[in-house]
Parts: sequence; C-alpha cells; structure tokens
Amino acid sequence: MILTAENYYSQEANREYMSVSQYKTLFGTFGKVACEARAIAELNGEWEQEKTTALLVGSYVDAHFEGTLDLFRAQNPELFTKAGQLKAEFRKAEEIIARIERDSYFMKFMSGQKQVIMTGEIGGAKWKIKVDSLIPDVCIVDLKVMKALRDVFRTHDAEYMGFVEYWGYDLQGAVYQEIVRQNTGKTLPFFIAAASKEKEPDIEIIQIDDAHLKECLIGIESNVPKALALKSGAYQPIRCESCDYCKHTKILTSPIHYTDLMMGA
Ligand SMILES: [Zn+2]
Repeated sequence: MILTAENYYSQEANREYMSVSQYKTLFGTFGKVACEARAIAELNGEWEQEKTTALLVGSYVDAHFEGTLDLFRAQNPELFTKAGQLKAEFRKAEEIIARIERDSYFMKFMSGQKQVIMTGEIGGAKWKIKVDSLIPDVCIVDLKVMKALRDVFRTHDAEYMGFVEYWGYDLQGAVYQEIVRQNTGKTLPFFIAAASKEKEPDIEIIQIDDAHLKECLIGIESNVPKALALKSGAYQPIRCESCDYCKHTKILTSPIHYTDLMMGA
C-alpha cells in the first residue's frame, strides 16, 4: 500500500502500518491510560477518535504552515459560528500563528518540507510517520500547540514531568528519528516547535536528546510483537474501563463495592 495525504489516516493504512497514535492507544503514556480494546475498535471502524476542538486547533495551525488552510477551512465548517465568524478557539489559533511568524528562529524550524510521509520498520512491524517540517540533512520538527508549555504533571508514582514525556511526544520523536534514518541514512535531531494557547502565547523550540530517543526506541521495539499479536486478533484486547469507548460499550453484570470508585485515583 502506497501512502498518500488522502489515505494516510484510513482504516486500511492503520491496519497495515503501526503509527505513533496507535502505539500510544495500545500502550498508554504517563498521561493517558492504555486501552487495547479501543485501539482495536478504531482499527475495525467500530469507534472513532473524537475530533476535539483542541485537536482541531492543532490541525488548523498545521494547515496554515502547510499552506492548505483554505482547504482546511472549507472541509471543517465547525470552525465557524452560524453567523459565519471564525470561532474564538480558531481566532486564538490565528493569534498563535501570528506570534510564531514574528519569531525568525521558530520560523527557521518551520521552513522544511511539510507533512512528509515516510514508512519503515521497527520491531518487526511496518510503521508510518508524517513529519510536520523536515529539513533534509538538518532536523525533524513536530509542531505542537499546547495549553501551556511549562505545566508540570504528576504521575501515579509521584514523578513530576513536563508535557513532552507526559503525553508521549518523546516516543513520537524516537519513531520519527528512526524512520527518517531508515529513509535517508541520517540520524537527525528531533525538535518540538511548541506554542501555547495562553492569554499571551508562549513559544519554544524544544530538543529531545538522542540518548533519550534511543531509550524510548528500545522500549517501543520490545512492545511491537504484542501490538502485532493484538492487531492480528491473536488474543482478546484488554479494556481500560475508563475511556469513552469503554464507557460506551460496558455491560453491567454485578454491583461494585463503594470503595472501588476510588480505584485508579
Ligand atoms: Zn478503554
């Protein structure tokens, strides 16, 4: 299967290739519990990831830098109010874009080839990636629009971390760096070009060092056989019982104890 901008997110492509988002649904991140059942339901077309406003804002900014904003606006009528005005969240996106464009260092990182699709092999599976800005022989850049850049998150083990690790963007960097290496023969540094939706948008170019990416890659490689087994239907996927998919499909058979409500809190 040859991947294009049109079929990149198709069910067929998701069945044939692993992607970072599929991996994160299967194995979770610090910030989001894994749900094998949801990942498999998405592959089977039984569940669709909700197009949240937060996701759309990110896509809006991506589309701007890709030069496809007109098309994006035409394809997403939900960006506008009934009166035809851009909704507040997307006016904020416009403000973030203007802030980014005012910074020439940030813009250097956004000057690469946009939305570059590549495929490769990790851990015995075929993978697909789509790079926001690839500067050949120089670096790999992923653009992220976040609520804030300096929020500190606390994990269940009482560890503190920033948004990059919490949401598994380091895993994304590891996969991108490896697949670009397989396609170009070069190990390029990975950067997150980040902007915030705060009242005054914050901006940073954030590097994830190669040593950390290598560590992430080793972890991913060891998980891939399980992902392939799940995707082939070799065993029953585990339900997380906390995501929207699990809430939507759960069937009650017995009461729970009142203290069970605090499980996982
Ligand atoms: Zn679930």
